[in-house]
Amino acid sequence: MGRGLLFVVSGPSGAGKGTICQRIIRELDIDLSVSMTTRSPRTGETHGVSYYFVTRQEFEQRIEQGGFLEYAQVYDNFYGTPKEMVMERLVAGRDVILEIDPQGAMKIKESYPDGIFIFILPPSMKELRRRLTGRRTESADAVNRRLRETLTEISYIEKYDYCVVNDDLEEAVERTASIMRAEHSRVSRGVQDLIARYKEEV
Ligand code: 5GP
Repeated sequence: MGRGLLFVVSGPSGAGKGTICQRIIRELDIDLSVSMTTRSPRTGETHGVSYYFVTRQEFEQRIEQGGFLEYAQVYDNFYGTPKEMVMERLVAGRDVILEIDPQGAMKIKESYPDGIFIFILPPSMKELRRRLTGRRTESADAVNRRLRETLTEISYIEKYDYCVVNDDLEEAVERTASIMRAEHSRVSRGVQDLIARYKEEV
């Protein structure tokens, strides 16, 4: 059995990457990696589903144990991808999505260049501000800071393989799912086995 594909999805906060990923895991046979973070849970977030919420000390312990595929400081908190679950799934032939920031994505690109990197963009900064304000989980200061950070994040876009603008959610989900399906048909992925089989049959 071949390895699963590793999809790395990034994009500014409020671009809708979380919603898109949730829809994708319902529609495709694919797993979403649950990250570990030192930030506090927001209303409605559940430990082990949204994130594993841990203390700074627990996070540092895991770093020392080499338990992260990547980790990064985003805003004032630490976020990391637990290594074991992701590697186990990939080896078992399952596709995995990492929903992580560009710093983390670039680290993955170094260690796992076969990954497929997808950037989700909001239709405009005006719309992004509207979405972030509408969430009501962030103060006005935090929204302004996130908008400034967004421009820095977007500067990484050249390093990604695909970009999806989330103007209409249904369309963005379909476009992202199409990218993921198409990646399975790449000639560079495992076509040798197929050709070898053909040769045996002739
Ligand atoms: P939030 O606090 O809004 O859930 O996430 C803030 C940012 O951290 C988002 O850009 C999100 O994609 C990113 N993030 C979430 N989990 C991880 C992770 O495991 N690693 C890295 N590098 N970034 C993450």
